[in-house]
Amino acid sequence: MALLNETHDPALRSWLASANAAACDFPLQNLPFAVFRRQGSAEAFRGGVAIGDQIVDLAALAQTTLLNGAAQQAAQAGAAPKLNALMALGPAAWNALRLALSRLLREGASHQTDTQACLVPQAVAEFDVPAQIGDYTDFYTSVHHATNIGKQFRPDNPLLPNYKWVPIGYHGRASSIVVSGHAFPRPRGQVKAPDAAVPVLAASQRLDIELEMGVFIGTGNALGDPITMTEAENHVFGICLLNDWSARDLQGWEYQPLGPFLSKNFASTISPWVVTLEALAPYRVPFTRPADDPQPLPYLDSEANRAGGAFDIQLQVGLQTTQMRQAGEKDASISRTSYRHAYWTLAQMVTHHTINGCNLQPGDMLGTGTLSGPTLDQAGAFIELTQGGKKPVALPNGETRTYLLDGDAVVLRGWCEKPGAARVGFGECWGTVLPAK
Ligand code: CA
Repeated sequence: MALLNETHDPALRSWLASANAAACDFPLQNLPFAVFRRQGSAEAFRGGVAIGDQIVDLAALAQTTLLNGAAQQAAQAGAAPKLNALMALGPAAWNALRLALSRLLREGASHQTDTQACLVPQAVAEFDVPAQIGDYTDFYTSVHHATNIGKQFRPDNPLLPNYKWVPIGYHGRASSIVVSGHAFPRPRGQVKAPDAAVPVLAASQRLDIELEMGVFIGTGNALGDPITMTEAENHVFGICLLNDWSARDLQGWEYQPLGPFLSKNFASTISPWVVTLEALAPYRVPFTRPADDPQPLPYLDSEANRAGGAFDIQLQVGLQTTQMRQAGEKDASISRTSYRHAYWTLAQMVTHHTINGCNLQPGDMLGTGTLSGPTLDQAGAFIELTQGGKKPVALPNGETRTYLLDGDAVVLRGWCEKPGAARVGFGECWGTVLPAK
């Protein structure tokens, strides 16, 4: 578990003024990673680190003499069009680069002019999916989501008996993971109305969001060698925002017996920025279970996990309809929760995934599953917010929504803040629904 060190000092300020603004997602204490290039250019994508409203270009930085040792090695690995090589290096390299960047970017740093020459404004950048994602596994770690959904699909038996014992997951699709800003056509598929004799091929009428976090695997494990709870977090590079769009009408017809398929694999949108576990260290909170719930089996338990295996990350979902966009109105908040309510932690996801010997590889992504909080206004999907489409969500301009309409744009936001620590933000994760093809 990463402990607090000089890079977390809330008193640290950058010579870059925008990094010191109170509401900034990317102060000196954050330093998240993305891959980027200048918009509309033929430049190669390369790794970058956010600071204020700028990006430290790792390819440019690696060409200077500003870094050495493990930090230089990490910057060179991060200069590639995808971050897999950097992810594979492990925590010692990531932490060395973070420390070196913190020292270069803080007030009073030497070589400020040389560092400044490596900055690119975020306003002129475009982003790509930060890793070549070999495999995507989606978990189901919110007991509140599992219960709310279960009530609708199985009113008599909402929470299946395995839920509190085994971290539930399934293998998703990596090829359709896209970066924030993507627009995608409403999916078509087989749907069957409850009173219909046969299914029909149709555009989904129950298109939904799923508020999740995406977990990027750093160093992997050899096939056959499980990762233990003690080591699990050392295999995690960082976390991003993830909207795992879902077509509920397709899902309801296809999901038995093998689980979701075309209802989930048409698009999954992630934020460009990946926040490291080291940056999140001030926001660790204890992992707890209600006393009358089963405690995790020993292979999913550790003292460190109990003490601080969960993260208090604030999450918000915003919706901007076509009408709002045309009126120049910003998105309206439809849900607000925290990642701390998850029933299983990052370390438990990684450990459980590999207990059978399954190998994780650098750049693999694990989804947390929809992160609904304890009350319905903290739900991370329309199917919960609207109780299966029965109670529409009211928007400030008088419009209502049960599920998404064409032209709707959804934005996820995430951030951490508390007294005595610097704010750490995830930026935004946008996606827009286009008419079906
Ligand atoms: Ca999902």
